[in-house]
Amino acid sequence: ATTATAAAIASAEAHSAHNYHPLPVVVASAQGAWMTDVEGRRFLDMLAGYSALNFGHGNRRLLDAAKAQLERVTLTSRAFHHDRFAAFCDELADLCGMEMVLPMNTGAEAVETAVKTARKWGYRVKGVPDGRARIVVASDNFHGRTTTIVSFSTDPEARADYGPYTPGFDIVPYGDLAALAAAVTDDTVAVLLEPIQGEAGVLVPPPGYLAGVRELTTARNVLFVADEIQSGLGRTGKTFACEHEGVVPDVYVLGKALGGGVVPVSAVVSSRAVLGVFRAGEHGSTFGGNPLACAVALEVVAMLRTGEYQRRAAELGDHLHRELNLLAGGGAVRAVRGRGLWAGVDIDPALGTGREISERLMERGVLVKDTHGSTIRIAPPLVIGKEELDWGLDQLRAVLGG
Ligand code: PLP
Repeated sequence: ATTATAAAIASAEAHSAHNYHPLPVVVASAQGAWMTDVEGRRFLDMLAGYSALNFGHGNRRLLDAAKAQLERVTLTSRAFHHDRFAAFCDELADLCGMEMVLPMNTGAEAVETAVKTARKWGYRVKGVPDGRARIVVASDNFHGRTTTIVSFSTDPEARADYGPYTPGFDIVPYGDLAALAAAVTDDTVAVLLEPIQGEAGVLVPPPGYLAGVRELTTARNVLFVADEIQSGLGRTGKTFACEHEGVVPDVYVLGKALGGGVVPVSAVVSSRAVLGVFRAGEHGSTFGGNPLACAVALEVVAMLRTGEYQRRAAELGDHLHRELNLLAGGGAVRAVRGRGLWAGVDIDPALGTGREISERLMERGVLVKDTHGSTIRIAPPLVIGKEELDWGLDQLRAVLGG
């Protein structure tokens, strides 16, 4: 690393908590699928802020919506109404085929809100005895970092030394319908799942799993809560990953791309029968549903309504998976998973850890992120061009010695 990069990293190391281990690149600007660092080097962004940047860096429509709103009003708190709120809730509910929206800011807050929603629905609508509500979740889940959410994580790194943990969760193996059915009791209020597990390495459940979860939860009067924070809003080639199995959950949890990579916007979206359980004063957030967030998210919803981004993700995703599967035939790649412009790639551990592969890709101008072991994740902005994607794949082939 040269001086500007090294100095910035040394200073960050000295003055920030070491709860991340970033690649040694210091980004100064970005446009579309590309980022430029403090040395003027360009990198193809094949992570897209963990799918928060589905519409690319510096997206004109999103920046214009944000700038116009910046000049009008940015924050009212929910103590007052503002003139972007109703349109945002209305449009987002409609995109989801739902009736009501409860806006928050980060993904973890939306998951917390979904947990609170399910419990309140359990007590007030289903009639579960007070204090007994249980939520079934999957092993290897990633739903965020709050104390309650890490209470039902199976990742020791995410969970260790944060106890005492929040009770009321039952963990079953992801993709195992029989185990799920066995875990549901009369006190179960919700099944909370990622329709594709992102942080676990882009794990797609076996065919029929989500449909089976839908059938089971309907039969047992349990809410099916789909955490589509990473999988939703175009990434997999459809608006929601659940659509690949023709499944509509009771509750969508959304975040990341909902704010267009400009502002943090998250939401719980559901029916009146479910989100109607809240009464004034029972839940909230100072910034949740603020005018700037609503203006940007409204534009995001309008962009998704065109279907253009879902189409791009589907077409380029087919190409990406075809190319990755060719690599998998060669031995350097052990497995490829995913849907649309989203892939988890297991590299032969003999070629390096996921971190080492990511560093070698960085040296060749491509930014990705590793997960556990020798897995890398590929999730470029949906605005990436085919030639750019091919160039990125060329760099991966070069790094893998193919
Ligand atoms: N849920 C899923 C499926 C996620 O992938 C993430 C983040 O990676 C979260 C929740 C948490 O979102 P945030 O980091 O905005 O709190």
